[in-house]
Parts: sequence; C-alpha cells; structure tokens
Amino acid sequence: MTIAATVPGVQSAKAAAFLGSAKQMLIGGRFVDAISGRTLDVENPATGKIFTTVPAGDKQDVDLAVRAARDAFDRGIWRSKKYSDRAEILWRWSDIILQNIDELSEIETVDNGMPLANAVAIVRYSANTIRYFAGMCGKIGGRTIDISGGGLDYHAYSLSEPVGVAALITPWNGPFAVAATKSATALAAGCSVILKPAEQTPLTALRMAELAMAAGIPEGVFNVVTGIGEAAGAALAAHPDVDKVSFTGSTAVGKRLVQAAAGNLKRLSLELGGKSPVFIFDDANIEEAIPIAAMGIFQNSGQICYAGSRLFVQKKSFDKVVSGIADFAEKIRIGHGFDATSQLGPLISGEQRSTVMNYVQSGVAEGAEIVTGGSVIGGPGYFMKPTVFAKTDPEMKIAREEIFGPVLVTAPFSDVDDVARLGNASTYGLGAGVYTSDVSKAHRVAKALRAGNLWVNCYGFTDKALPMGGYKQSGWGREGGFEGMEAFLEHKSVYVKL
Ligand code: NAP
Repeated sequence: MTIAATVPGVQSAKAAAFLGSAKQMLIGGRFVDAISGRTLDVENPATGKIFTTVPAGDKQDVDLAVRAARDAFDRGIWRSKKYSDRAEILWRWSDIILQNIDELSEIETVDNGMPLANAVAIVRYSANTIRYFAGMCGKIGGRTIDISGGGLDYHAYSLSEPVGVAALITPWNGPFAVAATKSATALAAGCSVILKPAEQTPLTALRMAELAMAAGIPEGVFNVVTGIGEAAGAALAAHPDVDKVSFTGSTAVGKRLVQAAAGNLKRLSLELGGKSPVFIFDDANIEEAIPIAAMGIFQNSGQICYAGSRLFVQKKSFDKVVSGIADFAEKIRIGHGFDATSQLGPLISGEQRSTVMNYVQSGVAEGAEIVTGGSVIGGPGYFMKPTVFAKTDPEMKIAREEIFGPVLVTAPFSDVDDVARLGNASTYGLGAGVYTSDVSKAHRVAKALRAGNLWVNCYGFTDKALPMGGYKQSGWGREGGFEGMEAFLEHKSVYVKL
C-alpha cells in the first residue's frame, strides 16, 4: 500500500508528518525495518481506511531486541545510574510528552478512534504517571533487619534490584496509557524494556519511544517491536533471556502466557479482562448515579477492562434507573474522534464490532430484552449504538462473558445480602461499584465484593498512586503504587557475620 500523505482531521503538523512517514521499530537505539521486510497495515477505525503500515516484527526481530536490552542491562548503563539521574530523565520524558501533547493525542485518536478530548486527557494522565514513577526511583530500597543469628552476630539487610529484561505486551483499548504505565514503572525500577504494542494501535508506542530517547534514556534500554501477538508477542513470552513479562490483555491470551513463561519461569504480571458489577441502592442519589453508571459502561465505547457492565438496581428504583440510562444512552453523541462534539468514537475494528453484535444477538436469543440500542450505525467506520439489556438472567452469556463493547446488562436486586452472591458470581474480579447514601452499607459492600478496584458513588477514576489489578481471572499482580514497582523488582537478603 502507499502511505497516505494526510489523514483527515489531523491539525498538528508534527502528527501529519509522523503519520505520513514510514514507520520503523526501535531496537538498540536504531529505527529499523523488520528483518523479513514485511509490514502490517494500520487502519483508522473511524473510517475503515488503511492509512499506514508498521514493521511486522517476528522472532528474529525479538531476538535482536532482547539482545540489545540484555546488553544494556548487563552493562548497567541504566540500572546503575544514580536514582536522581534516572528520575531526572524520566521527568524530562514526561515534559517532552507534554510539549508534544497535540501530536501524540491526534495520533492516538487516528489509531484508536477515541474522541480527541479523551486522548488529550490520557496523554496528560500518562505524563503524570511517568512523574509518579520518576519519584519512585529514590524510594526503592531494602531494609536493615535484626535477626536472631543462632548465637552469632550478623549485620543483615535486604536489597531491591531490578528484575532484568522486561517485555511489555499491551492492548489496543488504551494504547498510550498502558504503555506509559508499564514503561515508566519498569524503567524506574532499572529494567531494560521491550514494548510490543497491539497490532491495531502500534503508533503512539513508536513516538513515545522516540521521545524517551530524546529525554536521554540510553540506547538499548527502551526497545519497541511492532508485530502480531502470535509472532512478536509469543516470541517475547517464550524467550529464555526475558526475565519478566508484564501483560495487559484478554484472559484467554493471559493463560497462554502462563504456559509460555514456564520455560525459564519468567516473572509474569497479568492485567486481564473483567465483568464488573455495579449496585445502585434505593437510597442513592439516583439522578447523580444514572449518568455516572451510564458512562461507567459506555466510556471508550465499552472497551475498558473495568467497564461497569453488569448493573444491579434495587427493586424500587429499577425502572427509573434503567429508563434513565437508556435516555442517557440515546443522547450520547457518537462520531469521529476529531469532531469536537463526539462523546464516543467507533469500536476498534470490524471484527470487534461483529464480536459485540454476536453477543447482542445471543442476548436476544436467550430471552433478554433490548431497552435501547442493539444495532450498528451505518456508514464508514465501526460505530454502534450504546445498548441496554433488561430481563436478563445471570446464566445468560451476555451476563457472564466480557463483551468489551457498549453493552449494559441490567437486573434488579432486593437488599444488601444479595450483593456478594450476585456481584461475585463471575470468574472475573476487576472492578465494582456501589451507589448509596449509607456510609456503613458502602463499606460493607466494599468488603463483600471480590474485586481489585471498588468505586463508591463514582466509577472508573484511577490514580497511579493506588494499586490497580484484578482478583480471580482478572489477573496476577498490580500496577500502580508500591505494589506496581514490586512487579519489576527482585529482593536479595545479605548476611554479614560480624
Ligand atoms: P489481547 O487480544 O489479549 O491482546 C493483548 C496483547 O497481547 C496484544 O499486543 C496482542 O497482540 C498480544 N498477543 C496476542 N496473542 C499473543 C500471544 N500468543 N503471545 C503473546 N502476546 C500475544 O487483548 P486485546 O483484545 O488487545 O485487549 C482487550 C482485552 O484487554 C480485554 O479483555 C480487556 O479487558 C483487557 N484489558 C485489561 C486491562 C487491565 O488493566 N486489567 C486493561 C486494558 C485491557 P495482537 O495485537 O497482535 O493480537
């Protein structure tokens, strides 16, 4: 294919130049093509048009990237820097990202389809994440520990050290934010990294890496290999010289990574899928709860891991809440990410929209009722209407499986005793929400639900100072906070006989 000289809607000259140029991967400080010479098409989900290509990296390219990362790690060019120098470079990286926010957010919108205002907010949030982890550089440390010593005197202490070469495998639903979080955490810990972005959204990872180099991250410390999961991702997961895989994506691929990592027992963090329950009690501020619960599922067209996709409403308020959310859904402005009035963009691809529509059809076939939506929006791009189901049953496929689209499954509940039974009836445990004006009830529910993230009278807000992750099949480990740093560290105990 030929690379489009311009992409409609792009205002930033830098974004236009980047989108119009040939893309290469970053390996060992150099931008290179795939050894095979093959490329992958990149499609704009708002138009369905292919507008550029990236290298289709595979095992050969991964071998080179791992060698570069290993060499950089072993030579200590990053991990042995003074913490203040690492922190300064990371902070500079965040500054450069903010200086280029117009470009980065436009690229993210073209690549992923999200409204530009959301992309701007995400780039800003990501710069803040990098700053948070820049501050962590000086907070990693061991402890001096008093030990019993078996009759002898010892000076004993522990050291925290970077885990080594870290592969970061990311999804398409929040490309910049996920890549920034993983990279910043791993780099703050002193690791060398190889980032493998999703095949649908590889672009901001490439620019992010270029800006990291401009900030002073040494060659070989930050590498990016673009390519499909089955080739580049699988090669990273199986590589004997990769010490750690940090993965965000589906539970199905997460399980495959567990097997792939067994070869050298590499460390594994998994941020996986969800089917998060939300409870609205009769005593909640219903007017306030309706729009928050609606955007809790429809934000990013439902393509958010912790989307509040199962809504339980206490019986007396059920009809009012469901019709309020349906009204809200019908008024949401859906359109191209560069249209300033758009609140929601398209789904990521034709394939993803078909998957979501198959779920909608299965809901109807199993007897659920569509209150609103349930259909695609015609024309170019992969748009669909926000959809609300009522008359659902916990056994239905739409109530059990992650749909990853703008589809809300609603059901009534009786009282607080129902919460744990209904909310925890899922193989997932990522997010949960509760709306009530009773503080004791809120805390009781927060304790009863087995989920890694719990929102009371709000939904979906996250801050990197707090750990984020899932119970059950929503993952292993946490990102954010000290827990997130922990995922990129090893601990060594030192005994010195006095
Ligand atoms: P996915 O299909 O699992 O892909 C995620 C990443 O893994 C992509 O880079 C993919 O490459 C790669 N991959 C695929 N097969 C692989 C293999 N065999 N070995 C190694 N890597 C492989 O997930 P997705 O569809 O991009 O993202 C949606 C999912 O991510 C949802 O389930 C969502 O809940 C989850 N998610 C979770 C969180 C969280 O924090 N818990 C956050 C965001 C998203 P390709 O792109 O080439 O397939």
